[in-house]
Order: sequence, then C-alpha cells, then structure tokens
Amino acid sequence: MEKIDIAVIGGGPAGAAAAIRAARLGAKVVLFEKGAHGRDKVCGDGLTPRAVGALNELDIDMADAHRIRGLRMIAGSTTRELDWPTTDRFPNHGAVWPRRRLDAALIDAAAAAGADIRFETEAFPILERTAQGVDRVIGVEARPASDERTVTGPSEKFEAGLTVVAAGPPGKVARMLGANRVEGETFGLAIRTYAETPRHGDEHLEAMLSLKDENGTAVPGYGWMFPAGDGTVNIGVGALSTMKGFKKLNLNTMIDSYRRVVEPEWDLGPNLERPRAWRLPMSAQKRFGPGWVAIGDAAGLVNPMNGEGIDYGLESGMLAADLFVEDPATAPARYDELVGERFDAFLRTGRRFSFLIGHPWILKTGLKFSVSTESIANITLAVMGNLVDNTTPGAAGKVMWLADKGLGIADPILRKTRATA
Ligand SMILES: Cc1cc2nc3c(=O)[nH]c(=O)nc-3n(C[C@H](O)[C@H](O)[C@H](O)COP(=O)(O)OP(=O)(O)OC[C@H]3O[C@@H](n4cnc5c(N)ncnc54)[C@H](O)[C@@H]3O)c2cc1C
Repeated sequence: MEKIDIAVIGGGPAGAAAAIRAARLGAKVVLFEKGAHGRDKVCGDGLTPRAVGALNELDIDMADAHRIRGLRMIAGSTTRELDWPTTDRFPNHGAVWPRRRLDAALIDAAAAAGADIRFETEAFPILERTAQGVDRVIGVEARPASDERTVTGPSEKFEAGLTVVAAGPPGKVARMLGANRVEGETFGLAIRTYAETPRHGDEHLEAMLSLKDENGTAVPGYGWMFPAGDGTVNIGVGALSTMKGFKKLNLNTMIDSYRRVVEPEWDLGPNLERPRAWRLPMSAQKRFGPGWVAIGDAAGLVNPMNGEGIDYGLESGMLAADLFVEDPATAPARYDELVGERFDAFLRTGRRFSFLIGHPWILKTGLKFSVSTESIANITLAVMGNLVDNTTPGAAGKVMWLADKGLGIADPILRKTRATA
C-alpha cells in the first residue's frame, strides 16, 4: 500500500478545498474524483458573500465569475431589491460561477498546490476492526471509473493518516461508515437548467419566494434566476421535504410553470439542457470516526433557509485540513467539535424552521411578513444569505438568537405536527 497523509474522496468544492489547504501546508494528498476533469454538478451556481470570503481565503482567482451585488426577493405582489450588507466579516458582494468552471478552478488550484488528483477514479474507505472492536478507516481502495456509474480495472490501495469523505449527498461511502442522513430530518430537492437571456449581466440574484406546486399548495423553497454573465441564466426551483404533499411533488412540472412566469421579464431562450434534479442533504448520522471525517454535503452541511452548500463545503474542507496538520491523532474529534460550533446552531434552527413553514398557511403569512418592510427584508436577506448566526450583533443576530431559543422549545411539537405527518 502506498502511504499518504490524506486521501480525499470526491472532487467537488469541499474535497478540493481540503486538498488545496492540506497540500499548501505540506501534506501528501491524493484526491479521487469519479468524474472527469470539468465534470458538471447540478447546482444554482450562486455564491453568497460568505462563499466569496471562503474562496478569497483559498486565494482563488474569481475573474471568471460573475459578480453579484445583492438579492431581488419576490413574494406575492411585493418585490424588494437589496444589496448585500457591508460587514467586517465578509465581502459585500456575491457571485454566480457555473459549477463546471468553479469546480475546475478549485481542482486546478489543488493540483497546483501539489495534490495528486486522480480523475475518473472511484474510491471507497478501507475499514479495519481495532482490538477494541471499533471500525477504523485506514485508507482507501481506488479503481478507475469509466463513467460516473461503471467501475472497471484493477484496484489500488492507499494507506492514509486521514480519509476525508467529500463524496456529496450520502451514497455508498456513507452507508459503509454509518453516515447516512438522519431519517425524518429535513432535506431538499431542487432542479435547474440554463437559458440564454439578454439580462445575463444583471447584478442581483432573483428569488421568487411565493412558489406553488401544481395543486396551488404553497411550497417552502424558492424559484431562482441566477444570471451567470456569460449570456445565460441558471433557472431552478427547490423545495423542502417538510412541505405538505412533498412525496407527490413533481419538480419537472414546477420548473416548467416557474419558467412560464419569469419568461417574459427575462426574455428567455429555450432551455439549453434538460432540467436536472438532485438532493440537498441537511443532516448526517455521523461526520467523523477513527481515521475519517465527512465534509460538505457528505456531512449534511446545507442551509435549509437557502439551499446553500458550497460555502459550508469550502469552510469544512479547510477546517479538516488545518486540524489534521495541527495534530493527526485528534483531528477527527476536534473537527466534529469545531464544525459543530461554527454551524450546528444555525443549521438546527433552519431545520426547525422548515417544519414550521411546511404548513402552507404559516408559510404564506411568514412570507408576507418577511418582505413587509425594507428593514425586515434586510434581516431576511442576512438570514437567507448565511451571513448571521445567533452571536452576530444587531437585529438579524437577535432574530437568530430568538429563533434558536423559541424553535428549540417548540421542537417536539413542530415535529409531531409536521405538515407531512
Ligand atoms: C439544484 C441544486 C441547486 C443548488 N444551488 C446552490 C447554490 O446556488 N449555491 C450553493 O452554495 N449551493 C447550492 N446547492 C448545493 C451545492 O450544490 C452542494 O452543497 C455542493 O455541491 C456541495 O459540495 P461537495 O463538494 O460537498 O459535494 P459535490 O459537489 O456533490 O461533490 C462530490 C463529488 O464527489 C464525487 N464522488 C462521489 N462518490 C465518489 C467516490 N466514491 N469516489 C470518487 N468520487 C466520488 C462526485 O462525483 C462529486 O464530484 C444546490 C444543490 C442543488 C441540487
């Protein structure tokens, strides 16, 4: 077995960030990605100021991305166009960066930092039972993948001090580690495509918050128009699993009807590709164990309030790498603790909130309120933009603090009375 410091399974933003950071700090890193270089990922391609901050921290050149000043929120007959707030924590602009190009830029940065990137290679953890009867990940077994499904050819084994699981929404790797999503917890489903538009250079993301399904039921989620600055706009809709009628939800019908609503305003050309849907995991049974950590989507790090996951992937990837370089022995448990301190309260509040807005009548009333005045809409923006937590000074931070406490007390009732119960 070849000996390395870190084996990274998955070459999305999370895996690439871990590889960039660890390689720059001098670790011997091998990253395995089952897709080819430049593979696409179904996504809205939207980057909040927080995500731009994480990319800056990784020193990624963003000249290829389309700069975004803020968010246009549409709820019923109310439209509010707001700029991202200026804070001392994050830049005051976001971006839209189609994933084919963003992910290629990140993986190229990992290679430039010295990480060994194995494309079209599928990897799985190697588990070894310790004397105490605990399963420990000692490295990975990798095989060439001729496409994203078929695995062919002889395998190669690597012994790694840390295996970083960055494989996206839980699949086979998560099952091997007992790291699936938590049954009954919120998750999301979303679908997107691209179309040409003369408004591709718009400087605001657009989110239509008052979405309805084909039966007229209010959907907790939103429809988006994210202008990419390259002649196209990313169009999509997403919904949370806590909504009434979620099991019958037809995302293809939803994106078609959303497209019909926005088509005239955006002067849209035909869809450039068939709309494609994918999952947004928002929980994980485990995100570490002996010899391994899970980061990004594999750790369930997606914000239920806006469907954002790129930033969490970048941040958790960097954190895992830093902790390994500091002390390989304590890295997995320390990672769980510190990633939890950074994100758990906020994401937990978001999940609880999703049970509340799963009821169409609560959602309708809440939406009216969320854009009712400019100051309230600014709080909605800060929350949707992932720019606050319950320790942030100011009104938005106080709202998060109150929501955390209030929804915490109401949690058992929220679950019992969920719209899908
Ligand atoms: C429709 C939709 C819209 C979204 N819009 C946004 C948005 O606008 N902004 C935002 O921030 N987030 C958005 N998200 C969420 C975002 O796409 C994810 O949170 C993000 O991609 C997570 O990055 P990741 O690196 O953890 O996982 P991924 O990007 O999924 O990368 C995982 C990689 O692992 C590879 N892989 C899997 N298993 C193996 C294996 N065994 N061996 C080797 N390779 C493997 C896969 O091929 C894949 O390339 C959206 C999601 C969806 C579905």
